[in-house]
Amino acid sequence: MGETQLARAAALAELRAEFPVLAQNVNGAPLGYLDNAATTQMPLAVMEAMQRFDRHDRANIHRGVHTLSQRATDRFEEARETLKHFVGAGADHELVFTSGTTDALNMLAHGLSTAGIGDATIKPGDEIIVSELEHHANLVPWQQAARRSGAQLRILRPDAQGRLQEDELARLLGPRTRVFALTACANATGERPPYEAMLARAAAAGALTVLDAAQAVSHETLDVAALACDFMAFSGHKMYGPMGMGALVGRRAALERLEPLRYGGDMVEWVSRTDASFAALPMRLEGGTPNVSGAVGMAAAASFIEGIGRERIDAHVTALRAQAAAGLAAMRGVTLMSPEAHRSAIVSFVTDGVHPHDVGTLLDARGIAVRTGLHCAHPLLEYLGFGPTTRASFAVYNTHDEVERLLAGVTHALEVLR
Ligand code: PMP
Repeated sequence: MGETQLARAAALAELRAEFPVLAQNVNGAPLGYLDNAATTQMPLAVMEAMQRFDRHDRANIHRGVHTLSQRATDRFEEARETLKHFVGAGADHELVFTSGTTDALNMLAHGLSTAGIGDATIKPGDEIIVSELEHHANLVPWQQAARRSGAQLRILRPDAQGRLQEDELARLLGPRTRVFALTACANATGERPPYEAMLARAAAAGALTVLDAAQAVSHETLDVAALACDFMAFSGHKMYGPMGMGALVGRRAALERLEPLRYGGDMVEWVSRTDASFAALPMRLEGGTPNVSGAVGMAAAASFIEGIGRERIDAHVTALRAQAAAGLAAMRGVTLMSPEAHRSAIVSFVTDGVHPHDVGTLLDARGIAVRTGLHCAHPLLEYLGFGPTTRASFAVYNTHDEVERLLAGVTHALEVLR
């Protein structure tokens, strides 16, 4: 090993020590956790931030006159500011806390398709475009929104390699397009579409634009103010933060159009027996007691990421992906999804004549955790002509050695199972 490689290995060992869960054997082998697209692990700094809140500041937020309530409110609002900064939100943006990406996208699709004080934004005859690459969380809510409002759902299909093309989007866009919803990275294949250009094109055609950033936010710098993006959703547990926590960031003017999903405490201005008026953003969309320690943890996770730097994390995870993709592509009977995916931390593949669940089970027997199945993206895998896949996905703490173990494990599985 050269000097820089040694220094890098030492730095990685130090970083791994911040993730207690990694220091264990699974089935007699060191855990190689390669299921980060499903959930990343949490560093001590995040756990400690949440514990600090629960030990010292825990109380319900907003309107409390007592000290703990004020401190809890301060921690919650500081977390909001940290996360707004993390995604490049500007003065005309707001961040609404949700329980995750799924919750954020449901709030959005519901809010745009439901009439409240005003008319619904999505009207009969309107069109909603979603790409075929989407996780069910960015598809099913729009199916329901279309059904509720009498709009038509149109699917932006990828080419045979699973790539989205701008020309195809241009063909679908029209005067009736009200919403265009797109993922920043497909969780099932690892494909990263040219979302910057695609959102810009849809916005120029007059559509409201939605970016599902769940798979990108942990390693790509997402500058929401620089994108032609009206709404962006992401989850805490995919960015080294807590589960059951997420955010919907949007332009204020666009968020103002949402009919709230949750009516109740904390989101009202005045209430009579028969009517109510709603609070201003962001509280208008945050009815009920929020997960305050979750918000604190998610903000700590953002600070953890910024402390390392997203460019460094991106370089690391994409190098691991490239190493895995090259090794897998060289194996007989292995087909990669999105072989040329760039800026992706996900490699997804099928094995001729061998079921992914069997591959995953044999990998687990060697301490390697991967995900197998349809990855909540049934229409995509069906369209591409594939069934279930095996998916390995990488995070800042993964090592090149773990990728070698993955490759050795897949080779072994294919030998045993064929
Ligand atoms: N979108 C994408 C691209 C995802 O990968 C996931 C999680 N696999 C989701 C949305 C849903 O996220 P959550 O379960 O945190 O709501």
